[in-house]
Order: sequence, then C-alpha cells, then structure tokens
Amino acid sequence: MRIGIIGSGQLGWMLIMEGSKFGHDFAVLDTYPGPAGRLLNFFYKPEEYREFVDSCDIVTYEFENGDMRAMLESEKQGKLFPGLLPVRLKKSRIEEKEFLRKNGIPVAEFVSAGSFSEAMDKSGKFAKSVIKTSSGGYDGKGQITRKREDPPPTGGEDTEYIIEEFVDFRYEASVIIARGRDGQTRAFPPSRNRHLHGMLLSTEAPCEDDGMTEIATLLAEKLDYTGVMGVEFFVTNDGPVVNEFAPRVHNSGHNTLSGHHVSQFEQHIRAITGMPLGNTVNLQCTGIVNIIGNSLTGTQVSGILQIPGTKLYDYGKEPRKRRKIGHVNVTGEDKEVLSGRIKDVMKIVYGGQEEETLRP
Ligand code: AMP
Repeated sequence: MRIGIIGSGQLGWMLIMEGSKFGHDFAVLDTYPGPAGRLLNFFYKPEEYREFVDSCDIVTYEFENGDMRAMLESEKQGKLFPGLLPVRLKKSRIEEKEFLRKNGIPVAEFVSAGSFSEAMDKSGKFAKSVIKTSSGGYDGKGQITRKREDPPPTGGEDTEYIIEEFVDFRYEASVIIARGRDGQTRAFPPSRNRHLHGMLLSTEAPCEDDGMTEIATLLAEKLDYTGVMGVEFFVTNDGPVVNEFAPRVHNSGHNTLSGHHVSQFEQHIRAITGMPLGNTVNLQCTGIVNIIGNSLTGTQVSGILQIPGTKLYDYGKEPRKRRKIGHVNVTGEDKEVLSGRIKDVMKIVYGGQEEETLRP
C-alpha cells in the first residue's frame, strides 16, 4: 500500500521508519524536505498536491496545519485518515474547547473574545486566567497568564482569544490512544509530563490513571476518529480536565519506541490501514527527554549513550531557540531507576540551564 503523509517533520520520519516494516511505500508532501522528506524519493511540493493524492492509496497527516488543498483532495477521494473534523477543530482553540464541552469531556472554564481589549476585560471573570490566541499558537506561544488584580498588559494582537481559568493542577499527563477503522480503541498507559514555558521537556510512563483513559476513549469516539491521537490533561484534586488533543502521533508518545510491544507510529499505521491494533502494555518504565534549542556536542552524545537504557533520536534539524531537534528515550526496571536516568540525561543535555534555554 502507498501511504501519503502531509508534513515532513520528525513525526513523519518515525511513521515511515515504523511503517516500512509492513512493506508499505510512503510519499511526503510539504514545502521543504524535512526529516521525513529526506528519507524518500517520493517528495511532493504543495502545488503537486493532486499528483500526491492520486498516487497514494491512503493519506494521513503528521501536522494538523499541513497543506489544506492536499487534505481536502484526500478527503474528497475518501483517502484521508483521521479525516477533516479534527483538522477543522484544531484551527480554533475556541471551537476545539466548545466541541469538547458539548460532548461531555471535562475542560477548564473558558470564555471567548473577539479582540485583545475584550480579552483583557473578560479575563477579570477568573481570579487567575490563561489568555491564548484562538489560532496560530502552540508550545505556549502567544499566551499570557494574568491574575485579576494585575494591570492588563498592552500591545496584544487584535484577533480572537480564548480566556481559560488557570488550572491549579497536581500534574500534567497525556494519553496516546488509537482507534481502528472498526471502532476498536486501545490506549497506551498514561504518561506524566513536565512542561517548561509551554514546551514539553520530559515524560515518564506509566503514571497513575485518574480517569484519563476513559476520557480519551470517549473523545476518540465522539470524533469518530481513525488513527492515533494524543490527549493532554491537567490532573487536579477533582480529577482530570483536557487541555487539548493532537490529531496525530504525539511527542509524549515517543517512548513507545522503547518500552512497548508496538510503538505509537506502528499503531497509527495499523489503525489507518485497517490492521488489528497492537498490545499497548508497558514492558518496562519508559520516558523521554526532549532536546530543545542547542545541538549536542560529541561529549554530550557519548555521555548520554553511556547511561544504560538510553536511545538517542537526532532529527537532523538546524538548531534554533525553542526548536525540538531530537529526543532521548530512556528505560528503567522501575520508576525510581527511570527517574534517576531521566535526571542524568537532563543534566547532560541542559546542565541545569533548561529555564534559560526554553524561556521565550
Ligand atoms: P498549550 O499551548 O495550551 O498546550 O499550553 C502549554 C502549557 O501551558 C500547558 O502544558 C500548561 O503547562 C500551561 N497551561 C496552558 N493552559 C493552562 C491553564 N488553563 N491553566 C494552567 N496552565 C495552563
């Protein structure tokens, strides 16, 4: 089968590596050949979207903001998995949150605003709020955290905003869930995630499940989803609320390449091609450290590889401030061993400077 991927980044790269073992061919469409595009002879530019879609049996995306013409054409030809609904919802944080709330998925209280000044007025509704542009923001970009008594900041872009109540969470977590073409679902055990300045820094799995898997399953059903999806949670004393979902394989699921029978990438290929879904139990404790910003020196690389249970993934991307350029998968016999190794990798990658490195 020939599978088209819209988007040429590291998620596509890992989908191709893991999907090739079933004998599939892959084609990639993007504006430039990133980690995924460089692997293939079959690289298409956006203006070649029709040839790209025509040449593929099915099409998926590794980036929900990928080329819209390619998505529409694939949908028209009945080839797009997981379909257009998640893409449409992800174009607006307001619509995404409204969809979640309407379908009984717990979310933080929120209101919407049509301009920056209206957003500042409405943020007074909450003792503490997080104000986000409705579209275009990711990894904490364009976000303001404000207490009611703080003087309102000025100079924000005049666009639509969502104003969320600040969630005083115990921890952040995510669930990677797959839903097959037949509607069967399988979730990997939840991971506990550490974010810094809105970016995922590290992940440890499995963590306790405070109801996250049940919520992720409900969401996959409400979206009539096919494929793998990442669902991000804030876990509070009153239970989990969904922050957002990612309609694709997810950064916090990269550890499934190390500690599981199947990876999230293989699982996505299985789901969209109609194969049975794989077993999702953790074979051992696994985690990730993201490499963000600076590339690693030779000494850092050998330091990391000397820690037992580590695997290094270098995406071959130009280093840039707040850009994810690779990750380290870490495994351990138990949670304590895993946490210790994650700390050791963190020390080598960031040398205690993660705060400075990730600050916008
Ligand atoms: P987002 O871009 O919405 O994924 O947010 C990035 C990060 O900002 C999250 O992982 C949280 O650490 C923090 N954050 C976003 N929204 C809220 C909220 N309503 N309450 C508390 N923290 C938040």
